[in-house]
Amino acid sequence: MVKIWSRSELNMRKVIILAETCLAVAAFLGLMTAGRLFAAPQGAKREWPPNDRSRPLPPVIAPGTSSTQEKAGAPPSDAIILFNGHDLSNWESVAGGGPAKWKVGEGYFEVAPRTGDIQTRQAYGDCQLHIEWATPNPPRGTDQDRGNSGVFLHGLYEVQVLDSYAKLTYVDGAAAYDNVTYADGEAGAVYGQYPPLVNASRKPGEWQTYDIVFHGPRFNAGGKLLRPAIMTVIHNGVLVQDHVSLTGPTAFESRPPYRVTPEKLPLTLQDHNHPVRFRNVWLRELRGEE
Ligand code: MG
Repeated sequence: MVKIWSRSELNMRKVIILAETCLAVAAFLGLMTAGRLFAAPQGAKREWPPNDRSRPLPPVIAPGTSSTQEKAGAPPSDAIILFNGHDLSNWESVAGGGPAKWKVGEGYFEVAPRTGDIQTRQAYGDCQLHIEWATPNPPRGTDQDRGNSGVFLHGLYEVQVLDSYAKLTYVDGAAAYDNVTYADGEAGAVYGQYPPLVNASRKPGEWQTYDIVFHGPRFNAGGKLLRPAIMTVIHNGVLVQDHVSLTGPTAFESRPPYRVTPEKLPLTLQDHNHPVRFRNVWLRELRGEE
C-alpha cells in the first residue's frame, strides 16, 4: 500500500532531511579540521587525537615472573635470552673471540678469574636489560677488590657490580658498611660518573637484580655527538640511576670523551678476578623511538 503524506507530515520530513544534511556537513567539516589539526608534518612523528580507535594497538606479549633467591623468574615472551641456564653459547671471549671460558653451574654462570671479559656474540642497540648477579660468599678482600664485576652496555658503559652490602644499623648516624669504596664505584654506580641514588645492596651470596634501560649515543655523519648515552638502572627493584646522561665511556680515574660507535654493539661482562655469579640474563631491544 502506498502511503499518502499529509501537508504537515511533508513539511516535517523536509525539516528532518534538512537537519540530517546539516549534521552530515558539520561532521564532514569536523573531520577535515581534525585531520588538519592532527596530520603529521612531513617527516615528523604522527600525532594522534585522544582516544582514537583507529590508532594501532601495541603488540601483545606475555610478561615474565619474578625471581626468588631459589629460582630465576621467567623472562617476558618477547625477550632475547642471553643465558638459557645451561651453557654460554650466546657468549664469547672479548680477547680473541673464542668460546667464553667462564664456569657454568646449575642455572648460573660464574667468572673464571683471569680468563678475561666475555661478550655477547650478537650486537644490540637501545635496550631493556635484565641481569641477576651474586657476589662471592664468604666475601674476600676489601674496597674494589671484593665481589667486583661489571655490566658494560655496548662494551663501553659500565654499571658496577660489587659487594656493597651495608647493614641497616647505624654508627654515628651512618649506615655501617661492610665494604667501603668511593661513591661512584659502588654497586649500582655508573662507574666513575654517577653514584647510585641509594645503596640497595643485598648480602654477599644473595641474588641481586639489575633492570637497565639503555639508550646508546647517536652521531651525525660527520662524527658529531647528537645525543649522549642515557641510562636508567633499577637495583633490586629500587631506582638507583634516573635517566642519567653519560659523559662518555666509563673508566678508572678519567672521563674519556665519546668516540664514534655503531648503534649496535655487544654486551660485555667483566672479569675483575672475582668469582661473581650471573643468571637470568635477557634483553628486549627498543624500537621505533626515532
Ligand atoms: Mg667493575
